[in-house]
Amino acid sequence: MSSVGQAPTPLMQQYREIKSRHQNALLFFRMGEFYEMFYDDAEVASRVLGLTLTSRNNGGAADVPLAGVPAKALQEYVRRLVQQGYRVAICEQTEDPKLARGIVRREVVETVTPGVTYADELLDGARNNFICALWGGGANRSRGTMAPIGVAAADVSTGELRLCVTTIAELDAILARYAPREILLPQGSDLPLPPSRAEALITERETWEFDAELARDDLARQYRVQSLEGLGIGEAEQPAIAAAGGLLRYLRELQPGGLPQLARPFVDRTSGVMPLDEMTRRNLELVESLRGGGPEGTVLSVLDRTVTPMGARQLRQWILAPLTDRVAIDERLDVVTGLVSDSLTRDALRTALDGVRDVERLGAKIASGRATPRDVGALGASLARLPEVERLVRQLARTSSVALLDRMLAEWDSCATEAEAIRSTIVEHPPLSIGDEPTIASSVDAELDRLRTLRDGGKDAIADIQASERARTGIASLKVGFNKVFGYYIEVTRANQHLVPADYQRRQTITNGERFVTPALKEYEETILTSGERIETRERELFETLRARLAARIGALQCAARAIALLDVVAALAEVAARESYVRPVITDDFALEIGAGRHPVVERMMPRDKFIPNDVLLTEDARVIILTGPNMAGKSTILRQVGLIVLMAQMGSFVPASSARIGVADRLFTRVGASDNLVRGQSTFMVEMSETSAILHSATARSLVLLDEIGRGTSTYDGVSIAWAVSEHLHERTGCKTIFATHYHELTQLAQDLEAVRNFNVAVREVNDDVLFLHRLQPGGADRSYGIEVGRLAGLPREVLERARQVLKLLEGEQLAAGKRSEGRANARSEPQHDQLALFAAAPNPLVLRLAALDTDSMTPLQALSLLAELSRDAKRS
Ligand code: ATP
Repeated sequence: MSSVGQAPTPLMQQYREIKSRHQNALLFFRMGEFYEMFYDDAEVASRVLGLTLTSRNNGGAADVPLAGVPAKALQEYVRRLVQQGYRVAICEQTEDPKLARGIVRREVVETVTPGVTYADELLDGARNNFICALWGGGANRSRGTMAPIGVAAADVSTGELRLCVTTIAELDAILARYAPREILLPQGSDLPLPPSRAEALITERETWEFDAELARDDLARQYRVQSLEGLGIGEAEQPAIAAAGGLLRYLRELQPGGLPQLARPFVDRTSGVMPLDEMTRRNLELVESLRGGGPEGTVLSVLDRTVTPMGARQLRQWILAPLTDRVAIDERLDVVTGLVSDSLTRDALRTALDGVRDVERLGAKIASGRATPRDVGALGASLARLPEVERLVRQLARTSSVALLDRMLAEWDSCATEAEAIRSTIVEHPPLSIGDEPTIASSVDAELDRLRTLRDGGKDAIADIQASERARTGIASLKVGFNKVFGYYIEVTRANQHLVPADYQRRQTITNGERFVTPALKEYEETILTSGERIETRERELFETLRARLAARIGALQCAARAIALLDVVAALAEVAARESYVRPVITDDFALEIGAGRHPVVERMMPRDKFIPNDVLLTEDARVIILTGPNMAGKSTILRQVGLIVLMAQMGSFVPASSARIGVADRLFTRVGASDNLVRGQSTFMVEMSETSAILHSATARSLVLLDEIGRGTSTYDGVSIAWAVSEHLHERTGCKTIFATHYHELTQLAQDLEAVRNFNVAVREVNDDVLFLHRLQPGGADRSYGIEVGRLAGLPREVLERARQVLKLLEGEQLAAGKRSEGRANARSEPQHDQLALFAAAPNPLVLRLAALDTDSMTPLQALSLLAELSRDAKRS
């Protein structure tokens, strides 16, 4: 942005100086009724916002590109830019231009970024808007280890600050929970960001800003404590403290007016929580669907019967962070049980919560000085509902002793004084801003009442003047009116001019008459206008006093918000449980997983009631691996997923879609389902499949639940079966975890003969004539075939193709049988079981035979036949 050797105007000098401090943001530079952008900022803004790009003469130098937006429409333009991932620095005129000598003083008052915003238009009620700072994770080459990673996550719109220390392996699960819109990293960080960083904007900061000692002092000062121990932050949280230091510094820079009010930091301990990796989150469609990424068809969509935004956000967090501590799970389940069995209290609680607005975000707005009268009114209306909520919670806690509710009640605060203060101070329907409409109720403040009487008296007096002047002059059409230029005036039509008294002073001639004023009229005008201004000032003062009083109670408001969120979630879970006939799972520390008549919570909702076929699943130490075979479309994937979802729902504290469930707590849940191409990450389907499988084999423990749906299918049959075979053996022998493996490799059913804890199951179908009837019923034993061709027919493959496929299948099966018989003879001569398994592979058809079988010799010319024969003979010699 140079202007080749010529001095820029003072205004542009000021602009450049400010811009130099906000390089990575688009600078909205206030000039009167507009915000202007210059240079590159103008070009970006004109492209993104569709503004006209003009230019401004820079004191005789080269023209400066320029684009502007009206000040009134600021929020809308900022929203659009931030939604597209830009940062916007808002530079205001900080002195009255009328009083300014020379250039008006200007300062950036706020920078809005995707991760740091209070604007309702940029926030989704059902989701947090976190910014995460990350620190650590560096490799220690000599030891071959990686340092722990500190995560500090802040949502300024709710005032939350969370700290957490994690490892590179679990960073993905943590970030998925926070779903940050922006990530702060030290410059040059080589921390590999996991898939859950999603679309987050990356902001790099200087490394020293993450200095742990500075951060420690900063946090202690911020929360006015001697030592961080008092906040429950210990030595173990060191990397998270460093991250928080960088984060607070950044937040202060964005809000020069003062750091946003943040609640005491909450340490998210990763122990006690099940980390869910990306594939499991995706495959089980927990909060985002595989198609489109929206909420439809997800577990969240089934469970979300919350009635407040705080509850909706909390539920999302619960789904993404199931617990692994039996006692903690049972605490949640106890409350849900209480609410399931007492439908009256449940209904009453949900009704009471229904009118509660986003107390958490309203509190943050109040604390940061951004609340409008309407916001404060909404807070008042919400708080007014808390006594009823408290009554219901106490009632519930009496009938069933529930630790969670007892703890909640111990620190319960309905903020009754604040609710009353709002109710008695603010009018019932407050306006968006202080001004034309009243904000402060009458009888709150004597001075305000006096000013209002004065103003209204003035208005009445003006009406009286009109009446008395009509009487005095005898002009029936005489009118008292008001305009901005002349204030109040008396208007007399041309025809009545001769009746105008001498004390009228002419002010304006209009088409049809003249406008006059009188000293009395001017006097009342003065009263009305000045009292109007004084009323506004007084209202502001009173509003500010109330706001400050509420801001001082932010801790109590945040505590109330947490209680509301929790109650809303448990009431929602109870509501779903009751409506969908879920049962309370029995949570145990044992190994076994026992599901009676389990259903898939999402799939069952997509069909008429009772059409979904429930299934039992039992996994114990002695029968911990299930090889699940069955035709295409039989319902293997559905069973696999429903087992995962039932365990996950149980461990988050929800009832489950089954008639009974005993859940031995799983420390991890892994799913690998289908072929998921990851072209974005530049990996082939098979490579992704293998990386995912490898991650499972490395991380699963005996207490994990592993659900595999087809592995090894992205490569040749031999390679595929071999890998699938070896993976199953590993999980059975080494890991010893509960496993369900759905597969079309019927060869794997042989594993049950050799490995003691492997069981075969299949999903039943019935053949009726040439048709297949899907029974969706799980039964012991392996399936004999896949019915792929029948499914192909259902899907509309052409008749000729189907016939040909049947012919080829017969040929292949014939060959397999013959090979099987040959190998049987050989295998009988040996004794070790492994050799039987190898024989199994030998039974698979030779590729040359496959090619032969697929030939259609009738349609070949002799020449084609000859050249094919030569080719086959060459390949046979090579193999
Ligand atoms: P493939 O091997 O082709 O992947 P699959 O055996 O995994 O098939 P699913 O995808 O689980 O089959 O199920 C196919 C369809 O069958 C589902 O979309 C659902 O509509 C229906 N279905 C599955 N399970 C049940 C059930 N228990 N009750 C009723 N319908 C079911």
